Amino acid sequence: MSQKKRIYLSPPHMSGEEERYVAEAFRTNWIAPLGPLVDAFEEKLAAYVGAAGGAAVSSGTAAIHLALKLLGVGKGDTVFCSSFTFVASANPVLYEQAEPVFIDSERDTWNMSPRALERALDEAERARNLPKAVIVVNLYGQSAKMDEITEICDKYAVPVIEDAAESLGSEYKGRKSGTFGRFGIYSFNGNKIITTSGGGMLVSDDEEALKKARFLASQAREPAVHYQHQKAGFNYRMSNVLAGIGIAQLAVLDDRVKARRTVFKRYQEALSDIGGISFMPELGMSNRWLTTLTFDHEKIQTSPRDIIEQLARENIEARPLWKPLHRQPLFEGAAFYPHDESGPVADDLFQRGLCLPSGSSLTREEQDRIIQVIADRINYK
Ligand SMILES: *Cc1c(COP(=O)(O)O)cnc(C)c1O
Repeated sequence: MSQKKRIYLSPPHMSGEEERYVAEAFRTNWIAPLGPLVDAFEEKLAAYVGAAGGAAVSSGTAAIHLALKLLGVGKGDTVFCSSFTFVASANPVLYEQAEPVFIDSERDTWNMSPRALERALDEAERARNLPKAVIVVNLYGQSAKMDEITEICDKYAVPVIEDAAESLGSEYKGRKSGTFGRFGIYSFNGNKIITTSGGGMLVSDDEEALKKARFLASQAREPAVHYQHQKAGFNYRMSNVLAGIGIAQLAVLDDRVKARRTVFKRYQEALSDIGGISFMPELGMSNRWLTTLTFDHEKIQTSPRDIIEQLARENIEARPLWKPLHRQPLFEGAAFYPHDESGPVADDLFQRGLCLPSGSSLTREEQDRIIQVIADRINYK
């Protein structure tokens, strides 16, 4: 049986220039670790987003972990996290034996509810147990209400780490996503809007902190010829070869954002007529990393799971929205603050939501195939 060509959710999309930089790394024998391409990648990315500097590391998860270390998070501390996100947002909290407290989403952005955050901070202050940090995610490319969130956190003097792993290239209130908190982090994993195959970046306006991050990420090796160590460090730096891929990818980032937004628009145009489908809202400018939508169960009988199965039969990869972290067995017993009394927004999104293939290299024909399957499969009440 001949299978139709596989369509992935978000595959890597090379520009063709990457190999030139990789070849340069080979020619100069700056293979690993570090080297001039790492420095250049850090400078270029920081300049692109408008941060004072960046520290290139082995993953977005490593960048979050370093941010927690820089803020002094340790055993028994609490860290507030978005519930509606990928587990990598919160895993580093566990690395430090700290306790995550989960904050619900709001409907406007699907991201951290400022209202729930304020309630949680108010309670924590009264219990004299303010968190050491708040990690806010910008899901599927959409910024959280970072202006409100940073204002609330400033009131309680709690630093913000912005998990912009999915929102590189997005804007909010005229600023690039990832530059609102004390620290921002990006991911260059294979499924992200640009990729180094694997990698991440910590950005900040605090150059001293970034220096410290680079130090911690290089086994905390003190400046002495004999390998002197006072602190436990990590092996988290990005290799010079991969930074070369990143430089070439960064040069086409704006094109990638445009392409993903076009993919989103085509879905929206084709599926809005169907009725009962709502797309993720947009505040500011989202890179539309993934096109995501929800079904109105009052109108549509078919479940998102049915659609995912049907697409899988056609060799098309689709996914539900992230399962909220306060529902994961890993975080059983963690506190959770809902947006309001009407039931967690994150749970509702998870139950009704769907992610569609959204790669910047998706062709019109491929997208028509996907739209056709959805249109054929949907049944109404
Ligand atoms: C991908 C991702 C990360 C982690 O990035 P890695 O580079 O894969 O470690 C963190 N948070 C979110 C929301 C992500 O999507």
